Amino acid sequence: MTKILIAKNSGFCFGVKRAIKMAEEAALIHKNINTWGPIIHNPQMVSALKEKGVEEINSMPEVTDKAIVIRSHGIPLTEKNELQNKGIPVIDATCPYVSKAFDYAKLADIEKYTIFILGNPEHPEIIALKSYIKNEYHIVNKDFSRFENSRFGKCAIICQTTQNEQNLERLVVFLINRCNELRVFNTICNATNIRQDATVELAKIADLMVVIGGKNSSNTKMLATLCSNYTKTYHIETADEIEDSWFKNHNTIGLTAGASTPDWIILDVYNKINKIVGNSDIIIKSVHDIPGYKEEINER
Ligand code: SF4
Repeated sequence: MTKILIAKNSGFCFGVKRAIKMAEEAALIHKNINTWGPIIHNPQMVSALKEKGVEEINSMPEVTDKAIVIRSHGIPLTEKNELQNKGIPVIDATCPYVSKAFDYAKLADIEKYTIFILGNPEHPEIIALKSYIKNEYHIVNKDFSRFENSRFGKCAIICQTTQNEQNLERLVVFLINRCNELRVFNTICNATNIRQDATVELAKIADLMVVIGGKNSSNTKMLATLCSNYTKTYHIETADEIEDSWFKNHNTIGLTAGASTPDWIILDVYNKINKIVGNSDIIIKSVHDIPGYKEEINER
């Protein structure tokens, strides 16, 4: 029998659960509401919310008199202020861990540090984060070579919440001899670490990993990259993308899902693979029933 195991803590993190709950509650109170950008990086969940009256908008001219929910990874300060000045209900579902990174950016900026933002410059969280900085900052991801010959005074590092710790360590080592003072705000979210560690643990023993989550989700893409260091890996958004041929001659199949992947998609994938490999036609109805699943409550 083929084993199908799921990494601990797969699926929604604290911040995403909170944002979805806030959006659903707001939709009940205000009937139809808008979210500024996708509330989370999962196209299927965004569509499901649309059916409940939660509709995404992406620019100021689209704002109406409907209540608006700010997504879990925040929006730039000027846009937030503009929304608040419109006199419509603004529900801020920015994850508290993301808000903390914004607060550190403000603090380091006031204290005149040259700020290194470790993250993807196109990610909404980083676009929002940089709006809190008025003085010098640099956004870096993996390649720091443009600063090879630079010297700095006071430097601070702030991370995109979905960064991995090895990247942060690399940047610390790189900067330490190129500045007089280095202050590190480790704003990497624990939820990301917990999911990455559990995923790697499983990828090491699995013949094949299936990573479930939005193709636009940074943390899901990171899980897929980590898995592919150890074993054959497929990144899918839904069960429809699964091909029977992937599972031939494999004894242990690992599943994992990003922090923005809803349980019902994980369940669909598990049930479909279970059927393909001939284990069972019984449909399970809770991720808690997938072997290996464990929700840890130590997310910070
Ligand atoms: S991954 Fe972390 S920072 Fe991002 S929404 Fe989830 S709990 Fe918040």
